[in-house]
Amino acid sequence: MLNKPVTNHNVDHLENELISVRRHLHQHPELAYEEVQTTAFLKEKLLAAGIRILDVPLKTGLIAEVSGNPDGPIVAIRADIDALPVQEETGLSYQSKVPGKMHACGHDFHTAVILGAAYLLKKEEQQLPGTVRILFQPAEESSHGAETVLASGGLDDVQAIFGEHNTPQLEVGELGTRVGALTAAVDRFEIELEGKGTHAAAPENGRDPIVAASHLINLLQTIVSRNTSPLDAALVSVTQLTSGNTWNVIPTKAYLQGTVRTLSDETRAFIPERMKRITESVGEGLGIQVTFKWLPGPPATKNDPQWTALAERVAKETGYRFIEIPPTLGGEDFAYYQTKIPGAFVNIGTGSSYNHHHPKFTIDEKAIVPASRYFSKLAVRALEHLSSNQ
Ligand SMILES: [Zn+2]
Ligand SMILES: [Zn+2]
Repeated sequence: MLNKPVTNHNVDHLENELISVRRHLHQHPELAYEEVQTTAFLKEKLLAAGIRILDVPLKTGLIAEVSGNPDGPIVAIRADIDALPVQEETGLSYQSKVPGKMHACGHDFHTAVILGAAYLLKKEEQQLPGTVRILFQPAEESSHGAETVLASGGLDDVQAIFGEHNTPQLEVGELGTRVGALTAAVDRFEIELEGKGTHAAAPENGRDPIVAASHLINLLQTIVSRNTSPLDAALVSVTQLTSGNTWNVIPTKAYLQGTVRTLSDETRAFIPERMKRITESVGEGLGIQVTFKWLPGPPATKNDPQWTALAERVAKETGYRFIEIPPTLGGEDFAYYQTKIPGAFVNIGTGSSYNHHHPKFTIDEKAIVPASRYFSKLAVRALEHLSSNQ
């Protein structure tokens, strides 16, 4: 088990340092694309450890690297660094000092873990058969931070990438993942319906967008129940419906929006086509003008079979209990990296807690150092694997 008593002085020191890093971040949360102090803090820590920082055009977030052989392969390990607009209610001694902002998704944990991995890799830098890029990514919660990093060019030559999310569904000492989709594609839709307003007592003089919207919502539910395979998880949720402002007027317009979650590329392409056709046919049938807008977000994560097998082997090598976990329909913008670079995304157990984004969400700090060891070892093993194949 991982939680054996720590006797080694260096391990103690690393644990104290990473806990204090995590608590500092926890007290000073910054939202997506506003991670200026967080970035400055990480820069200071990395430079103090003698770790190089790449000169890439990122306003927040950064990419560092350690390298024992600049001609060898290049792999990346990634943490996300942003917090959420949530008012913390944990009552912890180190709770957020910023009203209305909180590390309620545990990205402070990810950041401490990957910083710890950077420290450990730095210690064996000369022996590394290649280069490890250490990525602190901004704006995961906006769903677009990973795209910003890809556009910076700082990962162009990376051959494999690894990332993590903490999870209260696993205990400290447990690590889980799966081949293929672990998280879903997260897309959004907006539908506008424009009819003709009229007196509520004379519906024959108008075209009611509320009746149209209610038919539409029911018909949209038939896509997942009747048009996609029950074995291919997907969902269509209308999460907002607005129309009208009083009791005796049939309004002119209605507005709907919501989200679609899918695990396969085929279903992800199929659902918006079907939604558009249903929306247009309801509009045509009821004399309502419709506008259908599709706003794509991150795709599903695509864990590469070979790198996922390595992630599992290293989990066992570093003392984790490995669990093959089911996919979720939550999203993760790490998936953008996997459209360009093969890699694996894993879930690290951080002990039971309220769920992510809850004001009382927390993590067990005992999970930090083992995860740092895991990511440093994973990077080394990935470099070894790539160099043996070169
Ligand atoms: Zn989150
Ligand atoms: Zn998160």
